[in-house]
Amino acid sequence: MCGCSQRRRASIFTRQPDGNGPGEIFFQAHGITPIDPQALPQPVLRSVPRDQHPISRKDISPNALRVLYRLREAGFGAYLVGGAVRDLLLGMHPKDFDVATDATPEQVKQLFRNCRLIGRRFRLAHVVYGREIIEVATFRANVDDGSGDREVEDGRLVRDNVYGTIEDDAVRRDFTCNALYYAIEDFSVRDYTGGYEDVLARKMRLIGDPETRYREDPVRMLRAVRLAAKLGFSIDPPTAEPIPRLAGLLAEAAPARLFEEMLKLFLSGHAVASFEGLERHGLLGALMPETAAALRSNRSGALRRMVLKGLAGTDARVAADEPVSPAFLFALLLWPAYCRALAGLQAQGMPVEEAQRRAADRVTLHQVQTIALPKRFSLPMQEIWLLQSRFSTRQRKRVFRLLAHPRFRAAYDFLALRLAASDSHAADVEFWREAQQSSGDALAASLDASAASGEDADLDGAPRRRRRRRRRGATASE
Ligand code: ATP
Ligand code: MG
Repeated sequence: MCGCSQRRRASIFTRQPDGNGPGEIFFQAHGITPIDPQALPQPVLRSVPRDQHPISRKDISPNALRVLYRLREAGFGAYLVGGAVRDLLLGMHPKDFDVATDATPEQVKQLFRNCRLIGRRFRLAHVVYGREIIEVATFRANVDDGSGDREVEDGRLVRDNVYGTIEDDAVRRDFTCNALYYAIEDFSVRDYTGGYEDVLARKMRLIGDPETRYREDPVRMLRAVRLAAKLGFSIDPPTAEPIPRLAGLLAEAAPARLFEEMLKLFLSGHAVASFEGLERHGLLGALMPETAAALRSNRSGALRRMVLKGLAGTDARVAADEPVSPAFLFALLLWPAYCRALAGLQAQGMPVEEAQRRAADRVTLHQVQTIALPKRFSLPMQEIWLLQSRFSTRQRKRVFRLLAHPRFRAAYDFLALRLAASDSHAADVEFWREAQQSSGDALAASLDASAASGEDADLDGAPRRRRRRRRRGATASE
């Protein structure tokens, strides 16, 4: 089993040709300062033999096995490493398989015709089998003794190809559960940091001094919360303790990288747990300051209920292998910020339509400074918001125009979700639900009839008195 459906579902996270994919992202992560060797523990090997662990070759991708065997036959050390080993120990299906070796990238290239080398700062080998890429990384060292290939330009590391031993490689990784190596030579699991015990205890523990490791790369704080949510792990107290204090460091992380992390946090089937984890560890405000502030000021908790309901819906869709969209996700996560901005602008007397547009632009503009939300997602996100006020119409032409809008379905689903925060638009949800189900002719006839009688169109036949409708995007209770 190689988790094919998981791989398909995770297609928005797939590895990019420039190597900026999910694999050894820290090797090319933007601006990680070199590791302080003092902060890292001494590795101590514990080898868990095949008959004492549950990892079986039948659960490993055949292509990853091919790579491991070929490296081994050529006389190199070859190990499955990182998330794949951890997931296999837990009986889960890894979404990608990474290999670590003592062969240099050039040596790997010579062994595989289907291999391309990527990255300048961190050279990696990608062995390509159709849609599956096996990432092969050479063991890295922490310190440069002058023998490696490291180059600094204007104070930034532009090339960092200093190779090392498996022990060096293990202690450079983030969490102990991510630093386990499955050796193809004897099928043992090699553990240098106590990760095996931590996996059994279902615990996230940083390798080395937590504060130093977070300062090196603040995204590790998000990885702690994300992996704990994904795996159902607890975060070891010394690993959790610095997070609220250091949350502000996330503002220095590359916005593009934070966007990738957001997708992994919220579109991998554990969005509710991720959201609650971010809240609990004080990270929500660092990622989405305006949403966090809006949730705090919404005393009734209605907006939070709506966000959690939407995230639970996302998780259900992922579990059913249905598509999930980043635009809808961000529309949901930033809706509290949008409602708050809109209320502020309207309080200043701005006409409603202008206030809606301004609020949408302002929230987007502020948010992209932290999380690089690409336009292809932020524009449909804004459309979902701006369409909300159009659901109150019953005018025949407008009703049909809205039904034909490319973003209608997403906007309607969003409207239905808003019921979790306020039932003031329950009648609209009902009207549009029926409008989608009735034929065009029946809908037109019923709208015409109700316009003539001054009653609301009620598609199941019972007339209602028309209420005066205000065009509005978000209700006061939201
Ligand atoms: P996922 O299930 O999300 O793929 P993962 O642990 O495999 O989780 P990847 O981003 O695929 O995460 O990274 C692969 C491996 O690279 C990790 O298991 C870890 O050993 C190492 N790694 C990734 N990011 C970092 C980081 N920021 N700092 C140190 N090591 C990292
Ligand atoms: Mg991975």
